[in-house]
Amino acid sequence: MTFFATQKISKLFRIRGGVHPHDCKTLSADKAIEDLPIPSLLHIPLQQHIGAAAKPAVKRGDHVLKGQLLANSQGMISAPIHAPTSGRVVGVGHYPAHHASGLSVHTITLQPDGKDEWIELPPPADPFTLDPAEIATRVAAAGIVGMGGATFPSAVKLNLRNRYQLHTLVINGAECEPYLTCDDRIMREYSANVIDGIRIMAYALGVENIIIGIENNKPQAQAAMREAATAFPNIQVVGLPMRYPMGSEKHLVQTLTGLETPARGLTADIGIVVHNPATALAVRDALREGKPLVSRVVTVSGGAVRQPRNLRVLLGTKVQDVIDHCEGFNVEPTRLISGGPMMGNLLPDTRVPLVKGCNGILALTAKEVSENQESPCIRCASCVQACPCGLLPLEMAANARAGNLDAVTKLGLMDCIACGSCSYVCPAHIPLVQYFNYAKGELASRQRAKHKQDETKRLIEQRNERMAAQERAKKEMMERRKREAAAKKAAAAAAAAKTAQEASA
Ligand code: SF4
Ligand code: SF4
Repeated sequence: MTFFATQKISKLFRIRGGVHPHDCKTLSADKAIEDLPIPSLLHIPLQQHIGAAAKPAVKRGDHVLKGQLLANSQGMISAPIHAPTSGRVVGVGHYPAHHASGLSVHTITLQPDGKDEWIELPPPADPFTLDPAEIATRVAAAGIVGMGGATFPSAVKLNLRNRYQLHTLVINGAECEPYLTCDDRIMREYSANVIDGIRIMAYALGVENIIIGIENNKPQAQAAMREAATAFPNIQVVGLPMRYPMGSEKHLVQTLTGLETPARGLTADIGIVVHNPATALAVRDALREGKPLVSRVVTVSGGAVRQPRNLRVLLGTKVQDVIDHCEGFNVEPTRLISGGPMMGNLLPDTRVPLVKGCNGILALTAKEVSENQESPCIRCASCVQACPCGLLPLEMAANARAGNLDAVTKLGLMDCIACGSCSYVCPAHIPLVQYFNYAKGELASRQRAKHKQDETKRLIEQRNERMAAQERAKKEMMERRKREAAAKKAAAAAAAAKTAQEASA
């Protein structure tokens, strides 16, 4: 299959598998984005991205302005953290994470002063006059990460031009997870700025061709983006069939271009980089206005929420503050989720803070969550048909259950994108994806243990080598001293003999 980067897309390519869950988007799709008022306290975790946690640059008692650096990025894959508003740092310590475990993580707590006073922002500049590498540098400094949930530092992706032959930027406006509508609203309400951000990213990547894929259940977003892109013939807005997981990067690229990403490879291997509309908006704000990432738009929805909404929320705001603004719960939720119901993560409670990668807070009722009793597999193969990655979920789950990690790995565990399509269709209600997530966690901890073992071995070997070298050096020194002493003795004897000879003469 050949894909020409300049070609108009006239047909889409069918991907294997996938499911059609009820999209439940009407709860919030027509709710315009509102700003959540500044909360009384913000808990800002230092790890809101893939990679190394940021390191605090402030201490307790410091007064900070909105956008001021709170924590520096560490290493190649990391992102800095900035103050979401002005106020006083009242703690640099630990707070429950935005994670199912609810474990405490390194967090800066900020007490807003209510003034929301920005640091001095740089004067507006034309990003298209900058060196492309400078764009990635500014995106890195703004702390921007993949806002579709991946949280990979965006600057690293923008720098891919140095390592890959890129030709196309794909914008993932599929938003295929049920309930979520924040990208839909961003594309409807900020289409011109999103297009600007997309063009800046394409310039940084050195690509001309831009394809924006939007599922067909978002006709207003499609129309708004088409209108905003009218002046740019290199941008195509393409309607996508509603089929979960259309928002999976590799499947989206295949649907649009017919190109298959190699197993465990990157879309960059086939010349394509994928970004999200919210990320494009953040890039535009960073490049045009010098603003770092301090807030995000999040969908608050689910049957347990009184008033589902799309809210622009300061990072570090407690989920409880967000829920309160939506007039609280009408029933106690059976499940509280960060992200969508298919791939999102459970949240332990509403104390946890909002982070850069959180695109949805869902509070689902018992009716919305099917908690049917698991029964034995009837070998119907529905999971095989639903799997977009061509895997054998029933075999993988059987091996994962038996603790046979090598077999699950051989069956393609690492190709599983944890989309949950298999679990969704399973008539026996087997939580297949949970087995795979568990198996991946086990594999990761095995790898960490092996890495630790190898590291210990390497350190012991280094220590032994160092001690042997010290021993050798000591031995050599003693031998040298012996030789020097012998030489001295011989010289003294010779001198004495000479003196005696001279005296007798
Ligand atoms: S869908 Fe469920 S019951 Fe059917 S084969 Fe797969 S695991 Fe078994
Ligand atoms: S969760 Fe994994 S195995 Fe199940 S359908 Fe998705 S990719 Fe396939």
